[in-house]
Amino acid sequence: MSDIQMVSKEALSVLKDKIKLIKKDDGAVYLVGPIRLPVNLYGETVIFQWYCWLNSNNENEDFQQIIDNLSSANLAEYQQSSVLVYGDFENDEEALIRMHSICHTGDIFGSKRCDCGFQLKQSMQMIVDHGSGALFYLANHEGRGIGLFSKAMAYILQENGYDTVEANESLGFVDDSRNYDDAIHVLKALRTKPVTLLTNNPKKLAALIDAGMPISGRTPLWGDVSEYNEAYLQTKIKRSGHLEIEDEGTCPND
Ligand SMILES: [Zn+2]
Repeated sequence: MSDIQMVSKEALSVLKDKIKLIKKDDGAVYLVGPIRLPVNLYGETVIFQWYCWLNSNNENEDFQQIIDNLSSANLAEYQQSSVLVYGDFENDEEALIRMHSICHTGDIFGSKRCDCGFQLKQSMQMIVDHGSGALFYLANHEGRGIGLFSKAMAYILQENGYDTVEANESLGFVDDSRNYDDAIHVLKALRTKPVTLLTNNPKKLAALIDAGMPISGRTPLWGDVSEYNEAYLQTKIKRSGHLEIEDEGTCPND
């Protein structure tokens, strides 16, 4: 590979219409998409429209510069968030959205310590069944915002009698440091009509309402309770203000 590559004129002309600059108070979000993404969902192939976004401290309308900087930005060392959109998300009267916090162990490995992996697939299926919606996959939310390495240490503390909240606080973190501002900026760029939020977490509902997003309702997302995550899920309900909807109800990183 040579040093700094300039994006070709041809490539730029293809890409520039697929990049959207979303201005915010402290910089910008660059949203790229839609990209057709066929997904295997419980054995069925479902077509989603996928968008990815990049957060930036400054606002630059010169997309050539933005693209030219990518090769030296070392983005693989960081995580970028993205969103899967289904149906006519912009125009349908009713749409379901899920703000899913990344969970490396649950989403990728299928860990049973939480039910994030189940919730991820289940919310995608609920969006498809509903006919319209979006799943936001929030890459800076690992371990409720403490990061994967710290989450590993929190798990060790949990194996030694700490609950989820105590473990995070013992490591010097606040219990929940997740922020939804960028995702809400992206949501507002994709849709201005009200949305129904898929969550058991009233903080997510509050974050959207605070940001001025019109909300038409909330749909809970329970399931996949097992002996491995029962104590964890009960902590979410008792210590973190999650709503207990059903008897078997319990929630993960949600
Ligand atoms: Zn999880």
